[in-house]
Amino acid sequence: GETDYKTDQQFAEHIKNTPEASSDFARKKTYAQQRQYLPVFAARQELLNVIRENNIVIVIGETGSGKTTQLTQYLHEEGYSKFGMIGCTQPRRVAAMSVAKRVSDEMNTKLGEDVGYAIRFEDCTSDKTVIKYMTDGILLRESLRDPDLDNYSAVIMDEAHERSLNTDVLFGLLREVVTRRTDLKLIVTSATMDATKFSLFFGNVPTFNIPGRTFPVEVMFSKNPCEDYVEAAVKQALQIHLQPHEGDILIFMPGQEDIEVTCETLAERLNEIADAPQLLVLPIYSQLPSDLQAKIFQKSSDGLRKCVVATNIAETSLTVDGIKFVVDSGYCKMKVYNPRIGMDALQIYPISQANANQRSGRAGRTGPGQCFRLYTERQYKDDLLMGTVPEIQRTNLANTVLLLKSLGVQDLLQFHFMDPPPQDNILNSLYQLWVLGALDNTGELTSLGRQMAEFPLDPPQCKMLIVSSAMNCTADVLIIVSMLSVPSIFYRPKGREEDSDSVREKFQVPESDHLTMLNVYNQWKQNNYSASWCNEHFIHVKAMRKVREVRQQLKDIMVQQKIEIISCGTDWDIIRKCICSAYFHQAARLKGIGEYVNCRTGMPCHLHPTSALFGMGFTPDYVVYHELIMTSKEYMQTVTAVDGHWLAELGPMFFTVKETGKSGSAKRQTMETLQEMEGSMRIAQEEMKARKLEEE
Ligand code: ADP
Ligand code: MG
Repeated sequence: GETDYKTDQQFAEHIKNTPEASSDFARKKTYAQQRQYLPVFAARQELLNVIRENNIVIVIGETGSGKTTQLTQYLHEEGYSKFGMIGCTQPRRVAAMSVAKRVSDEMNTKLGEDVGYAIRFEDCTSDKTVIKYMTDGILLRESLRDPDLDNYSAVIMDEAHERSLNTDVLFGLLREVVTRRTDLKLIVTSATMDATKFSLFFGNVPTFNIPGRTFPVEVMFSKNPCEDYVEAAVKQALQIHLQPHEGDILIFMPGQEDIEVTCETLAERLNEIADAPQLLVLPIYSQLPSDLQAKIFQKSSDGLRKCVVATNIAETSLTVDGIKFVVDSGYCKMKVYNPRIGMDALQIYPISQANANQRSGRAGRTGPGQCFRLYTERQYKDDLLMGTVPEIQRTNLANTVLLLKSLGVQDLLQFHFMDPPPQDNILNSLYQLWVLGALDNTGELTSLGRQMAEFPLDPPQCKMLIVSSAMNCTADVLIIVSMLSVPSIFYRPKGREEDSDSVREKFQVPESDHLTMLNVYNQWKQNNYSASWCNEHFIHVKAMRKVREVRQQLKDIMVQQKIEIISCGTDWDIIRKCICSAYFHQAARLKGIGEYVNCRTGMPCHLHPTSALFGMGFTPDYVVYHELIMTSKEYMQTVTAVDGHWLAELGPMFFTVKETGKSGSAKRQTMETLQEMEGSMRIAQEEMKARKLEEE
């Protein structure tokens, strides 16, 4: 459908009356002056008074008012850092890194010294650090070592409105910590007005509002539902750009792929228009290398319009100054538990009305603006939920359950959640952990489970690492797990796809993508971790360096755990068996030529074309997979061939060996066993609950 907007005559007037573009402002003013200009500055003393008199304070303020960059500094200036670090949690890694950089600049220090950040597998702090930005997952892990968070004098839980899983869990834990540690300051910040809920949860604590300074944003809906939001967004951005009005553009897209296509298409179209003014097109998403991320904050040279194409990271976490036009696709990517495939899937969903309003607000920060929604008003009213469902209610909780169990939380059904997850989610996660052997029949953590909780990885990967110790292949599995923690290693540059594919094939180990990964790493190592070797082989050198860092960090934990690091050399069957021990619950068996069905659900699934097993003329009877991805079909991603007997040996709750005519062939057992076990797990849970009630 054609998208077509009603126009507004008055808008041109608005724009003309706007003071100079804020990008000019930033360019001409010192950091100190910029800090004083932020809305939170006017409230500084009053806010510090409230914090002095209360242990927990909820702080509400529009995005861009200075919560994230200023609150930490105010507390530091006020002397709180004498008694411990000032921690500030972020749901997103990019935000933690970028904000730490900004604050270290404002304080005129080197990043990693007074001001630092920590995200999974990357600790950029030192003994000197007094202000520490980190993902909420990091603070959650720190609470394992130090349940009272004694290293901190204050904790700011930022972006609470996002309701990320880890933030929600931290809410429950920190609520208790504050009762034990009366010297700890807890500040919860949110960009939206649902403060009452936060305040009530923490015991009716005071709420502090940062007076906002926002300008009207004119919202325009698409007249017809749009079929292709990338195409529609490109058209809209060009239309804005070709007008004379000043101001930068911010386009919201669901994810990296759409962002890349949008940026390319925009550049192509601009090229086709004769005499089109230049446009600085800048992508931002979480996997973007950080030097490129920083670009969105840089001021463009005079008169050059900037167009930032972002995921919902730009909704509240990052504020780009100077935006006057927002183009909203109406979609975002979300992790949602998919019962059909039995795991979380990152998929594209419509945003909520709350998201839509946050997005349009981005256009009115420094002056009046316009927001173009690429969906109709009817769609907004009828199809979009009022608010987003908190992550804790829609994702797999196995990691969280493992963590809470090791924190000594006995009965998860009784844990104080702001919005409790559905009971089925918890039971399902308990069941998964039980299948892996992390919990015993009564739901207590086993010693394997206790060890698993030490690693910042998903439960199956934790298990793979620990089992590798008994199988004498720790060094090899360590590399595989590290490779799994980094997105894509290989790249296929445009125009050289075939070259890249043929190089890739040379690395492939026909029975396993995991072993292929190991092979790549080992060859890189043999070539002295060389960058040019990577370039020659179409491998991302930055990704490989990340793998190396991750490997080192996981190795440190293994050494702490007194696990020896040994390689099994070329005995790759051992490694495949070790992989099987962690992924037997994600097994598929050969059904027809090149066709697999999931052993537990009977659902058809396919080898991904990039798999080493694909098209090799070798089709093993059984495979296990790392994850399923859904595009046009269900594809198994990162696959390893396994022996049917291993499945029976390692996953006895699902499989037994049934001797048939052909001796030794393994057959999937009927589903009854699974259901029985599932039943007994549930009974165990019910019994536990009943016992708890009796005790009370
Ligand atoms: P809030 O947390 O209330 O949304 P912030 O503290 O993030 O507000 O932002 C305050 C100001 O700091 C904004 O004007 C924003 O543009 C600027 N800012 C934040 N991070 C960066 C960065 N990495 N680079 C440049 N400016 C930044
Ligand atoms: Mg913020």
